[in-house]
Amino acid sequence: MSWLDKILPPKIKRDGAESASSTVPEGLWHKCPSCSATIYSSELKQNDMVCTKCNYHNPLSARERLNLLLDENGREEIGAHVKPTDALKFKDSKNTLTA
Ligand SMILES: [Zn+2]
Repeated sequence: MSWLDKILPPKIKRDGAESASSTVPEGLWHKCPSCSATIYSSELKQNDMVCTKCNYHNPLSARERLNLLLDENGREEIGAHVKPTDALKFKDSKNTLTA
C-alpha cells in the first residue's frame, strides 16, 4: 500500500474496485426523465420508447422513427450514397473543439 492509498478517503479508494452495484451491465435499465421510474431497456423498446408508467415519449433516432412508420417490405431508400459537401469551404477563426 502506497502513501497515497493511506491518505485517500474510502470513497476515492473504491475507484477501480468492482462492487456489486457496478456489475450491472450498462444500458440494461432506463430511467424515465419524466417520472424517474426505472424500466428495462428491452421493455421500453417493445413499447416503442414510450414510458410504461407515465406515457412519456422518449426521443427516437431518425432510423427508429422510420422503422416505426414504414413497413419492412416495399420500402426503398433513395439517396443513401449522397454525402455532405462543404461548398463554402468555411474555416472557423476559432478552434471550438478545444475550447
Ligand atoms: Zn415515465
